[in-house]
Amino acid sequence: MRKQIILIFLFFLTPIFVSAAEIEIKPKNPIQGEPVLITVSGINNLSEIKSAYFGKQQLNFFLYKGKISALGAIDLAEKAGTSTVTINLKSGNKLSKDVFKNARPKVEAKIDIPEKLGGNTKAAVQKLVTNLIDEQAVVKKITEVVKPKPFWKESFRFPLSNPVITDTYGYSRNTVGYLISHKGTDFRAKVGTPIFSINRGIVRDNKTYPTFGRVVIVDHGLGLYSMYLHLSKVKVNIGELVLPGQVVGFSGDSGYVTGAHLHLTIRINGISIDPEKFFELFDVKI
Ligand SMILES: [Zn+2]
Repeated sequence: MRKQIILIFLFFLTPIFVSAAEIEIKPKNPIQGEPVLITVSGINNLSEIKSAYFGKQQLNFFLYKGKISALGAIDLAEKAGTSTVTINLKSGNKLSKDVFKNARPKVEAKIDIPEKLGGNTKAAVQKLVTNLIDEQAVVKKITEVVKPKPFWKESFRFPLSNPVITDTYGYSRNTVGYLISHKGTDFRAKVGTPIFSINRGIVRDNKTYPTFGRVVIVDHGLGLYSMYLHLSKVKVNIGELVLPGQVVGFSGDSGYVTGAHLHLTIRINGISIDPEKFFELFDVKI
């Protein structure tokens, strides 16, 4: 009698843990002075992230259009080259992506010192540079504080109606021999134009500085700040919660200006980035 052989096939399903999580960067080829929007797909919850970095910059996540997102910044003076986005998950998995930071083309233009600040003299430029260093140190201290949650709501807006850009971010202003980087976007605004907060946030400063003029600084949380310079009048107090589009003040020609306009600075993780690119990341168009 033939012995029946029963073949038992055992299928061992070896679990392969291939993480589906993926990091995406916008814009794909950022240059010096630009913000980057980092999104993570394939994980379900912000709480799955233990820590995250863009180079040495700590990343803070929020939900944008349902995606887990973070803002990173490339300093204008940062060396071109590769920085790595590293995300450590609580599961022990680690995600990473290299980002190449491209060099920004160097552009230089001459600019005058207005008569009210001493005109085009060596003494006036030295005073201007000294003041700028002091003012930048004060602003750095205010805008380095990272609140753990965003105060902002989903979409951003321009700081004034009918925005017309008169000067761009990132070029060097040759001021009586000194090169001063323009770290913001200038908008056409005659004296008295209402200036709106680009989003919800808390007012952290409303003082007057020699070069920045009358200023409002709004903290949008998670290390994101907006600054409105050269105002003629301020309508908000320090500590006040402002809503998206709320009037924070009126434009003017206070501080170092050759004419009335609004200068908008946007800072991420203590770094001034190109505001035009910031609006692009959030699909805000003129
Ligand atoms: Zn400006």
